[in-house]
Amino acid sequence: FRGQVTLDGPSGTGKSSVARAVALELGAAYLDTGAMYRAATVAVLDAGVDLDDADGITRAVGEAAIGIGTDAAAEQVTVDAVDVTDRIRGTEVTRAVSPVSAVPAVRRLLVDAQRSLVDGAPAVVVEGRDIGTVVLPDATLKVYLTAAPEARAQRRAAQLGVTDPAKIAAIAADLRRRDEHDSTRADSPLRPATDAVTVDSTHWERHQTIAAIVELARE
Ligand code: C5P
Repeated sequence: FRGQVTLDGPSGTGKSSVARAVALELGAAYLDTGAMYRAATVAVLDAGVDLDDADGITRAVGEAAIGIGTDAAAEQVTVDAVDVTDRIRGTEVTRAVSPVSAVPAVRRLLVDAQRSLVDGAPAVVVEGRDIGTVVLPDATLKVYLTAAPEARAQRRAAQLGVTDPAKIAAIAADLRRRDEHDSTRADSPLRPATDAVTVDSTHWERHQTIAAIVELARE
């Protein structure tokens, strides 16, 4: 395979693990743009900037050196040469990433960085929310990965070790609410490209989703 595969979609679809596996199978590089927004959030938190202060957020992100590996076999994320690979998955960063990624100037900085990172790569899988629409509008294959909120809630619950049906229903309700919020916000980055192939993984095992996307890429 040679070219660019974009993989966009809401959270909770198992998108990251699918994207990484697809990249490995295709022998392609892999870029997790969510990890970049998370790293930017680390820079903002460490600068002590208020999350309502868009200019302060932009300055902190602009001054930080965000490093991201593009090897599908090994995740590595740094901010000012400090390894933050584990820290970006923590609750502190997860809570603050939304307001940081909503700042337009931050998006411009990171979109430029994302384009530079994949520029010249013979084969790459790029995962996020706006990759097919904004970052790489001329990609070879655009995939929009979705799953019903109930299926996403089941997967999230399995990850967290939650088995109580009432709690799983609450997770599903929260995902549905966030979907609603994301798709109705005029400036939401989450939207399928008009030329994207929608892959619905509701009734699939992870390996079936991976195989379907690899096949689309090889067509
Ligand atoms: O994919 P992940 O959950 O790691 O993304 C973290 C956050 O980064 C998302 O909730 C979203 O706010 C933001 N994001 C974005 N655009 C992208 C990727 C992620 O706004 N391309």
